[in-house]
Amino acid sequence: MTTRLYAMCGDITMLETEAIVNAANSSLLGGGGVDGAIHRAAGPELLQECRLLGGCKTGDAKITKGYHLKAKYIIHTVGPVWHGGKSSEPEQLASCYRRSLEIAVASGIDSIAFPCISTGAYGYPAESAAEIAVKTVRQFVAAETPLKEVIFCCFSEQDLQLYQRVLNEPAAK
Ligand code: ADP
Repeated sequence: MTTRLYAMCGDITMLETEAIVNAANSSLLGGGGVDGAIHRAAGPELLQECRLLGGCKTGDAKITKGYHLKAKYIIHTVGPVWHGGKSSEPEQLASCYRRSLEIAVASGIDSIAFPCISTGAYGYPAESAAEIAVKTVRQFVAAETPLKEVIFCCFSEQDLQLYQRVLNEPAAK
């Protein structure tokens, strides 16, 4: 099956994909930015489930139910904090996208939306983060997967333009 990849601008908590990805911190107990928005929209049951997960390592991901969201599942991943790019940040960011997709496929999920992981409070430069996001997702869906749709959910027009440009670049890059 070919997977449709596209970028949009909006609030990820409103999406109706089967899963949304949360840019969490390693405690998985909530925080600011998209993490706070997801916890607020999903409701307090989410925090209860997250407490049982024992945290998450940078570059890894864990799944919970979506509770009051339209999305059935939330895949929580922990992006790297930007320390200049020489502390494995690119590999860790790629791992966030790959592990989230692996968990989605293992859970039978066929549509998923990602926020721009690490590019808020964690300070990852938006352009290189977008390149890694698109490249990693493309590599993943190049193999046969049941994924129908992967959405890059931007939160600003600027990020949307960036993703549209990267998505229009040849896949070989
Ligand atoms: P991180 O700590 O991984 O940098 P942030 O939540 O600070 O996570 O930022 C990650 C990205 O999520 C940023 O691009 C930010 O603008 C975006 N964002 C914040 N709130 C939302 C939301 N409700 N829906 C989608 N994206 C959001």
